[in-house]
Amino acid sequence: MKRGLLIVLSGFSGSGKDTVIHRMIEKYKDCYSLSISATTREPRFSSKTQKLEVDGEDYFFLSKDVFQQQIAKDCFIEYAQYGSHYYGTPKDYVFQKLDEGKNVILEIEVQGAMQIKKMFPDTLLVFLTPPDALTLLKRLRGRGSETEDKIRVRMNAAQQEANYIEQYHYLLVNDDLEACVEEFHQICQTWAHSTSQNKALIETFKQQLTLL
Ligand code: 5GP
Repeated sequence: MKRGLLIVLSGFSGSGKDTVIHRMIEKYKDCYSLSISATTREPRFSSKTQKLEVDGEDYFFLSKDVFQQQIAKDCFIEYAQYGSHYYGTPKDYVFQKLDEGKNVILEIEVQGAMQIKKMFPDTLLVFLTPPDALTLLKRLRGRGSETEDKIRVRMNAAQQEANYIEQYHYLLVNDDLEACVEEFHQICQTWAHSTSQNKALIETFKQQLTLL
C-alpha cells in the first residue's frame, strides 16, 4: 500500500485554518486525517462549534509539566512555543495513519513547520492567508473570544510569520471557503503525483526496463 502524504497547513491565527481543514475532512473523509495536537494553553470558546473546546477533539490539553515530560520521552514529531504556550504534534497517530495510506494534515505554526520540512523533506507545505491584513484583524475581532491585547499579540505574530511564507510550496487564499477547500484538495492531489512521492514506482520502472 502506498504511504499517505504528510501535509502541513500553516497560516496566521484567524486565517480560517480550522474551518478549511474541517470542511476538507468532511468533504473528503476517506482521503484525509487530521492530527490532534497537544497544547499547554487553556481551552477556549470555539465560534465554529459554539462551545468550549473539547480535550481529545480540538487539542490534548496538557499541563506544562506533562508536556515537558512528553518532550523528554520523545513523544512529539515537532513542538514549538507559540506566545506563552507549547504546542506539539504527537508522533504515534501520525505515523500510524501514514502507514495506513491516509494523508495526514498537520495544522501547525511556522517553527514546527520548518522542523517538519527539515526532518521530512517530502512534506507538502501550504500556507493559508485571508485576502488581506484588514480581513485578518476583523476575523480575529469577530471571534469575540479574546481581548484586544491578545489580538494585538496575534497580529504581531502574523508579521513575524509572514517572513516564512516563501519556505512553503503553495499559498492558499481563504476568501470563499468552498473554493479554498477545493484548491487545497487539488494541491494535495497534484502533490501525490510529484516524482518525490513516487520514488518506489520510479525505481520499479527502472528495474523493469533493465529486464525487457
Ligand atoms: P491556537 O491557540 O490559535 O489554537 O493555535 C496557535 C497556533 O499554534 C496556530 O498557528 C496553530 O496552527 C499552532 N499549532 C497548533 N497545534 C500545533 C502543533 O502541534 N505544533 C505547532 N508547532 N504548532 C501548532
